[in-house]
Amino acid sequence: MERTFIAVKPDGVKRGLIGNIIERFERKGYKIIAMKMLQPTIEIAEKHYAEHKGKPFYNRLINYITSGPIVAMVVEGDNVVKGARHIMGSTKPDEAEVGTIRADYAQTMEYNVVHGSDCVESAEREISIYFKPEEICRDWKTTLDLIMEDGK
Ligand code: UDP
Ligand code: MG
Repeated sequence: MERTFIAVKPDGVKRGLIGNIIERFERKGYKIIAMKMLQPTIEIAEKHYAEHKGKPFYNRLINYITSGPIVAMVVEGDNVVKGARHIMGSTKPDEAEVGTIRADYAQTMEYNVVHGSDCVESAEREISIYFKPEEICRDWKTTLDLIMEDGK
């Protein structure tokens, strides 16, 4: 099953939106298989956003993502990388579709409350930055999985 890396960014945490943001992914039926709160160090932030090094917004991005705790998650589901990006909405909140997280909770591209990997390769890379393999709860079943098994 496909996995992605999702994080409630520091502005999401500071605004009390952790529950609201996580709920979007849970109600879609995606399975959260790892989660923790941490304040990214500069080293972690630079690894995470290595692709943006040298861009005009890079220094501000590193300051932002290290400015407070984030809630980091590994989320599993069918085509979850694309699906989660759809739930998050466009990077620019004023262009994000109504009903997406960024359209609903953010005003500026700089502070857009949530991160999600942009492809499967990025997801694997980002998951390995934030989680050790033993921190991922890979072997549990959702209630729906159990009911389906029972009915067989
Ligand atoms: N960002 C910014 N200014 C820009 C582009 C991006 O401040 O012009 C920030 C914003 O927080 C964004 C993050 O850098 O979420 C990473 O940018 P990316 O293009 O990867 O967007 P995302 O994948 O988060 O939608
Ligand atoms: Mg990105």
